[in-house]
Amino acid sequence: MRRQGATGARKRSTRLSRCHAAYAIGPRMSLKAAIIPVTPLQQNCALLWDSETMEGAVIDPGGDAEWIAERVAEHQVKVAHILLTHGHIDHASGASLLKRLLGGVPIVGPGIEDKFLLDDLPNSGPRFGILDAEAVTPDRWLTDGETVTIAGRPFAVIHCPGHTPGHMVFVDAPGKVAIVGDVLFRGSVGRTDFPYGDGRALVTAIRTRLFPLGDDIAFLCGHGPGSSFGIERRTNPYAGDGAA
Ligand SMILES: [Zn+2]
Repeated sequence: MRRQGATGARKRSTRLSRCHAAYAIGPRMSLKAAIIPVTPLQQNCALLWDSETMEGAVIDPGGDAEWIAERVAEHQVKVAHILLTHGHIDHASGASLLKRLLGGVPIVGPGIEDKFLLDDLPNSGPRFGILDAEAVTPDRWLTDGETVTIAGRPFAVIHCPGHTPGHMVFVDAPGKVAIVGDVLFRGSVGRTDFPYGDGRALVTAIRTRLFPLGDDIAFLCGHGPGSSFGIERRTNPYAGDGAA
């Protein structure tokens, strides 16, 4: 869920025309990404893998788990685990079914502070047009400062609360790639108008924990096109250098 509102629902029949082609992300040409938009909220589920080993991960399967599993099979990726940046419905509600479809791969993350959101997914689903949302019990919670392996690379786990209390961002700083969920978008930041939201904490996390990692780090985000830390540091109206 982004600050400026969702992009609107699209009919399921349009899905076959969506672009989910694989492309290289970052300077390491063997790191491939396929963005798979899911749910009426058009959340960017991401499939990342190494084209040499074919090992990879699914990040934020918010719904449409069968569709995601088909894309995994299409790209012939060996999924090691499912990663969750945070507990919102459009990021997590397909995780339990996808885990079963992929043979029981572990669900890793987000921070345990988002447990209340994961527990409530079946109740909150219908409000967002997601009727098959399942609660999620991760196999492992994540904590700030550890690393997770994505496509054979270590990604630092960085706690960036504010949008949700347990939101985690994954950054491979040497590889110049980050997965930021709903913390930061091209030209926007995550919503904080929830009872548990904290806009100051969100902007502080972006400015003190993400931007210092390097202007040349490209990121994938939960909605819309990606960007880079440098572009957003210079131009983002909510978190950039020129913001209040
Ligand atoms: Zn969210």
